[in-house]
Parts: sequence; structure tokens; C-alpha cells
Amino acid sequence: NQKEMKESVKSVQKTRDGKEIQVMANVGSLTDVVNLDGIADGIGVFRTELLFMNRLMPPSEEDHFNTYFDVLKNVKKPVVIRTFDIGGDKPTKFFNHPIEENPSLGYRASRIISNDMGRKLFKDQVKGILRAAIFGEVSIMIPMISHIEQFLYAKKLIEEVRQELISKATPFKMVDVGIMIEIPSSCLIAEHLAEVADFFSIGTNDLTQYTLAVDRQNIHVKSLYSELHPALLKLIKMTVDAAQLYNKPVSVCGELASNPIALSYLVGLGIDRLSMNSHSVPIIKNEIKGLSYNECKKNLDVLYGYSNLEDAINFLENRKVCYESIV
Ligand code: PEP
Ligand code: MG
Repeated sequence: NQKEMKESVKSVQKTRDGKEIQVMANVGSLTDVVNLDGIADGIGVFRTELLFMNRLMPPSEEDHFNTYFDVLKNVKKPVVIRTFDIGGDKPTKFFNHPIEENPSLGYRASRIISNDMGRKLFKDQVKGILRAAIFGEVSIMIPMISHIEQFLYAKKLIEEVRQELISKATPFKMVDVGIMIEIPSSCLIAEHLAEVADFFSIGTNDLTQYTLAVDRQNIHVKSLYSELHPALLKLIKMTVDAAQLYNKPVSVCGELASNPIALSYLVGLGIDRLSMNSHSVPIIKNEIKGLSYNECKKNLDVLYGYSNLEDAINFLENRKVCYESIV
């Protein structure tokens, strides 16, 4: 029954051959956090821009601290806080967003942190995060990185924040800082990024949009938005290989993580943390129990042989049916 299923997925799930896979939730509000009900193994993406989107004034350091403090009070598990991903498909009322022909290719997310207003927004947010980090297991993730310099600049600002907190004797805790891999260029330079980042999290929603040049919100090109396109599977593999070379953790936090057909591929690559919409968390947790990590790994070579989408999906789908018949 449903209650039993709920209880059975409250712990971290293992594959049939014993590999633990963390299944986390993507959230955008305190209500989302409260509704998690202990089933997710933490929060893989906290979409912080959603918290403040409708405000007329930018959130202060105190606003940030209070919000993250409340979140950590509710979740006694790891929380990955994504710094503001504003602009593009997530405009706010408090930032002076320019009018752009192509907002998703425009002035957004980590691209705004080098201007005065963006820098202040970013540093206030980081201050709030580092202060709240005393009360839980927190890491910071920087979205929309296409150039290594952007990440190094973000890290420089985080270091400035750290110095400022020290000089004011404000209690805080330093945390890991990772890169959200969601632009194809970042997959292609993943080996360089892995050297300087503490972890990677692959955002397949935007990675699909930018790799296939298909607007994720445009219904006219919806049929081309294929998150299982062989090009994406390759980019994901490149990213995971680079992370593994430098022994850095890598997770998948876009909706591909909630696609049961993709699961055997992601597990086979060695990904041990997935994050997705909270409804899919118990479903994916149940799927994991039926998989064998070693079998998933063996199947990867066959999959790379497929040059077209249909064959790749058929193969993955058949693997899924095969696992289901075993359980
Ligand atoms: C993504 O791009 O895959 C992602 C998880 O972030 P968002 O959907 O908020 O852009
Ligand atoms: Mg994104």
C-alpha cells in the first residue's frame, strides 16, 4: 500500500548490487520544502530566484539568512543552494533587466554578477548562505557557467565575502562551491572546470535547450526537445568522465533525472546523486531497487554505438522492461 511504499523509500536506496543512489528534490519555496515529507534524500537544487521574484526591492543579506535558516531547520539532509538564476525565463521585478531579443542567451544568472547591482545581489546572497551554513549541510552551486573565468570570478567574490565576515567577526561556515553544467561549452571544457570546482551538477533542462537550439518553453518546437538525444548522452558522459578524473562528485539535477528510461544510463555512468521534481522522487527511488549498477555499466558501450535517437531510446526502454521483469 501507499503508506508502506512511502516508508520504504525514506532511506537512501541501493541498486540490486548495493550501490547507493541519492534521490533529491528540486524546490523553489519553503512550502515545497515542508511538503517533502522526509522522502527525498535532500535538496539537489534550491531555485532561490523563485523566492524573491515578485519583490520590488532586492532581498537583503538578512532575508537570505532567515530563509535558508528556515529551510535547514526543516531539512536535516544536504541542501544545494543555487545562487540567483535571474533573467532569461526567470525575470524579477527588482533587477534592472535590459530588453533583449533572446533573453535565454542574454544577460542572466552568473552573467550579471560583475555589474554593481548584480555583484551586491550575489554577495548578499552568499553572506546569507555562509551564515546559515552553520545550521546544516549546505553547498553553493553557480548556474549558467559557459566560461571558466565566470566561475573563477564567482569564487573571488565568495572569498571577498569570507574575508568580510571574518573582519566583522560574524559566525559562518565555508562550504563547497560547485558548477551547474547546463551549457554545452561547459561540458566541452569540463576537464578544466573539474580542476577548480568542488562538484558538478548537470542541469539537463537548459543543457537540452542549448545543445539542440530548442527553446524549452516554445510549444512549436516541443517535439524537438529530446532530452535523450545521443548528443546529450555524449555531453553528459564527457562531464562525468572529467569529474571522475578529478575525483569530484557529479549529479544530474534536470528533469532527465526523473526519466525512468534514462535511469540505467545515468546509473551506469556512475552518477550517484539525482535531483528532480518532488513527485518523481518516490517513483525513481523504487526504480533504483530494480537496477544492477554493473549491468548498467556493461550496457553503455552498446548505447554509444547508436547514432540515432530512436534506436538509443528503444535500447534504453528495452533495458527498463528487462529490469522490471526481474523485480
Ligand atoms: C536545469 O536547467 O536543468 C535546471 C535544473 O534548472 P532550471 O530548470 O531552474 O533552469
Ligand atoms: Mg537551468
